[in-house]
Amino acid sequence: MNRRRERVVVVGAGLAGSLVALYLARQGHEVDVFERRPDPRSALARPEGRSINLGLSARGMRALDGVGLLADVLKHSVPMRERVVHSPEGGVRVQPYGVREHEILHSVLREELISLVVTAAEAEPEVRFHFDHLLTSLDRETGVVQVASTAGGEPRTVTADLIVGADGAFSTVRQELQHGLRANHAQEFLPWGYKELTIPVGVDGQPRVRLEALHVWPGHEAMMVAHPNRDASLTCTLFMAYEGPVSFAALDTPTAVRDFFRQRFPDAEELMPDLVREITENPVGHLVTVRTAPWRYADRVVLIGDAAHAVYPFYGQGMNSAFEDCMVLDECLTAHPDRATALAAYEAARKPHTDVLADLSTTNFEDLRDRVHRFGYSASAAADRLLARLLPQRWVPLYAMVAHTTIPYADALARANRQDRILRRAGAGLALATGLAATAAARRIGRRRRATRR
Ligand SMILES: Cc1cc2nc3c(=O)[nH]c(=O)nc-3n(C[C@H](O)[C@H](O)[C@H](O)COP(=O)(O)OP(=O)(O)OC[C@H]3O[C@@H](n4cnc5c(N)ncnc54)[C@H](O)[C@@H]3O)c2cc1C
Repeated sequence: MNRRRERVVVVGAGLAGSLVALYLARQGHEVDVFERRPDPRSALARPEGRSINLGLSARGMRALDGVGLLADVLKHSVPMRERVVHSPEGGVRVQPYGVREHEILHSVLREELISLVVTAAEAEPEVRFHFDHLLTSLDRETGVVQVASTAGGEPRTVTADLIVGADGAFSTVRQELQHGLRANHAQEFLPWGYKELTIPVGVDGQPRVRLEALHVWPGHEAMMVAHPNRDASLTCTLFMAYEGPVSFAALDTPTAVRDFFRQRFPDAEELMPDLVREITENPVGHLVTVRTAPWRYADRVVLIGDAAHAVYPFYGQGMNSAFEDCMVLDECLTAHPDRATALAAYEAARKPHTDVLADLSTTNFEDLRDRVHRFGYSASAAADRLLARLLPQRWVPLYAMVAHTTIPYADALARANRQDRILRRAGAGLALATGLAATAAARRIGRRRRATRR
């Protein structure tokens, strides 16, 4: 692949598609990117019910750094140094994200991030973005794709050496790639959806809550998180069931909305003057996990990002892992001149890890919903952080490995499981030692009492 210039078609100019276009252009290829939505830099572009801002962490940062974009992106982001957990009683508990200075997340606007990457990719002489253009079909044997303008007119035919499917969780490229093959495909929707709400800037121009943090309002039946924006507002994402007594459907009157917030997120309600209007007008987004294989066909078609592995957003890793895909694909294409081998190496390097990420993301949903506000959870997170401080080379909490390192996800989980076993054994040892000491003390007291009586 790196030996001669080839023609690449990228389908989708979301986060993954725009970054992979830049990586492939830097390899010297001619890249055409087709995106059904308008140019993100135009006023018309609006995310279709998808989150407005995202948490960027180590993997995404490394991939952006690989094409020299990190410094610029960080200038457009707000650092999130800790998690602030709000309780229904109105109290807050602060949980640092890591033990070291750099172990923080960065909140960045989706459209702003895509715009930065698209602008950088477009600066490469051989990259062309075609917005408002939809892929309608592709022939995986010949590399012929059909694209149609969303404004209408006859579809266009383009022939590519390589087609990269970066067209998201409901990928058309994936359907065409896997059609008629012994493909595995599992798609699972969470019974909860999400809605975006706003904590605007205060009347004094100051943020209404601590800005450089991710705010979390956990809850068994509904939860909310808030990411900071550069204008000192915060974008909240409310997660809850679609239907039922506690659900988006039940928030059908202004009174129902206010009662619900006063009961569950009382300190947030005071910060959200547009709450009723936003709940009424904003759409409910869906959350889906996709596990699928194969991700590639011969030397011709390959999937990246959500098209290959959509995950629930509760570990904040969807975009980060999509960016990591771009970097790994680039490395595999460089390492293996035979493209079919390169694509196979890429899938083998990524799939086992993104499958683990899907599990981790589901578990983190359960943690945020049920456990994060419990004393036991905070205590074990604090023990994890203490051990990480005492044994920095040997002890790294799972969250830190996922968010602040680029250790592959499955390796991170295996290491965390080993650490847990050690902690459990140490805990059991401590409990046993405490039990033996207590028994010995009771015996001593008994002996003393008997001696006094005598
Ligand atoms: C509520 C929420 C919060 C999130 N928070 C985080 C977070 O904090 N951190 C994080 O890392 N991740 C987060 N994510 C996940 C992240 O948004 C996704 O993983 C990421 O957007 C995937 O990027 P992608 O480019 O693969 O897919 P997408 O962003 O879905 O982009 C796919 C693109 O393909 C285009 N397209 C689709 N079909 C066609 C077609 N036929 N022809 C042409 N174009 C097409 C679409 O218009 C779109 O622009 C969150 C997701 C949600 C829903």
